[in-house]
Amino acid sequence: MSEDALQLDDVVVIGGGIIGLSSAYYLNKAGHHVTVVDQSNLDAGASYVNAGYLSPSHLIPLSAPGVMKKGLKWMFNPASPLYIKPRFDLDFLRWSWAFNKSCNLKHVQKAAPVIRDISLLSQELMTDIKKDPSFTFHYQKKGLFMLCQTEKMLEEELEVAKYAVELGLAAKEVSRLEIQQMEPDVNINAIGAAYFECDHHSTPQEFMTELKAYLTNAGVNIYANEKVLDIVLKGTSQVTLTAGKHWIAAKQPGVLLNIVTTYAWTGSGYVVPSAAAKAGVLALTRSLAVEWAKYGIRSNAIAPGPFPTEGAWSRLLPGDLVKKFDPAKKVPVGRVGVHQELANLAAYLISDFSAYVNGDVITIDGGEWLKGAGEFNNLEMIPQEMWDMMEASRGKKP
Ligand SMILES: Cc1cc2nc3c(=O)[nH]c(=O)nc-3n(C[C@H](O)[C@H](O)[C@H](O)COP(=O)(O)OP(=O)(O)OC[C@H]3O[C@@H](n4cnc5c(N)ncnc54)[C@H](O)[C@@H]3O)c2cc1C
Repeated sequence: MSEDALQLDDVVVIGGGIIGLSSAYYLNKAGHHVTVVDQSNLDAGASYVNAGYLSPSHLIPLSAPGVMKKGLKWMFNPASPLYIKPRFDLDFLRWSWAFNKSCNLKHVQKAAPVIRDISLLSQELMTDIKKDPSFTFHYQKKGLFMLCQTEKMLEEELEVAKYAVELGLAAKEVSRLEIQQMEPDVNINAIGAAYFECDHHSTPQEFMTELKAYLTNAGVNIYANEKVLDIVLKGTSQVTLTAGKHWIAAKQPGVLLNIVTTYAWTGSGYVVPSAAAKAGVLALTRSLAVEWAKYGIRSNAIAPGPFPTEGAWSRLLPGDLVKKFDPAKKVPVGRVGVHQELANLAAYLISDFSAYVNGDVITIDGGEWLKGAGEFNNLEMIPQEMWDMMEASRGKKP
């Protein structure tokens, strides 16, 4: 897709699974021009083949006490309920470590009400979509049996049902006879069940097919077989060119502000693709600062140092690594950034207060990159007594 295909008020949704298409549905209803881009043909995958349950009953998160022990056994059996191919890969080890850490009761108690609320909201939204006469997909609100063949299993499921009731959901125990009465055409091979009356189900293939047809009719552009790659450099250049061409045609001044990084000009080991892409964004920023100044368009960049965000921090430095490689220790001012400081700088750079700043990159990192660059900066590790000794040996009084 070229930048010409985009307009400024477009919303682009990357990924046309159930999350992407449902987001497109509501964005379209809210009056946005929506484009969905998906690397597949949009006719297969988890969103098409799942069991179709909207089940608040599944309120125990996957990372629960005891799962890691089971998971280790499951890991070596491709037919197990949770098969994860074991591999010696740093990302996988990090993930396993973090997963193991969250397999505790506190995590379950924190997550369960959130999972319940997301499921209840999904049911509400599905009911809302189903009301639209364009949709005829199968959607039923008749609950879910968790059938059990052993006393132990039944006991475990009834524990979950009890917890679900505590959280305000409709669930109860049913005997084999009761199940048989409710499902007379099915041969029941179970001693009993937990019956979660709160659950709904649909047929995902039908739903996804109808949703795609609805969106196409509603004017949503759906690009199949388009893989979104190279977000940093290509994404920035496409958005920049789209905005810039629009401003130039409308004879309207504008300000471009890109976010790069402090290794955009030095490069950095272990993040080669990121360093190369950010260096490209910086070159784009500076080149257009000259070329588009005559149209009243300024172009600048910010190079932030460490500003913690939960997602980035937990992925880059999971668990105790954050203590071992505490980013604040690399910053001369002795701390990481506060988001408001970044916002203040961005607000300044897009405002007219910075009207004479063009083609520059402003670093906001507490001096971090310079500390790494100066040849003798690590002399700060020398203790005061040693400085005193050196001064004394040069004949200066300590
Ligand atoms: C067997 C099975 C049964 C399940 N049963 C249930 C159930 O009963 N109830 C329930 O709630 N959940 C169930 N799930 C889980 C559910 O299917 C998923 O949570 C859900 O489909 C995820 O939807 P999604 O839109 O987030 O992701 P996906 O459906 O995976 O969609 C992501 C889309 O993004 C596209 N994409 C990815 N990368 C790029 C890129 N770089 N550029 C362009 N496009 C890209 C992919 O092609 C894909 O179409 C089940 C899953 C399975 C496998």
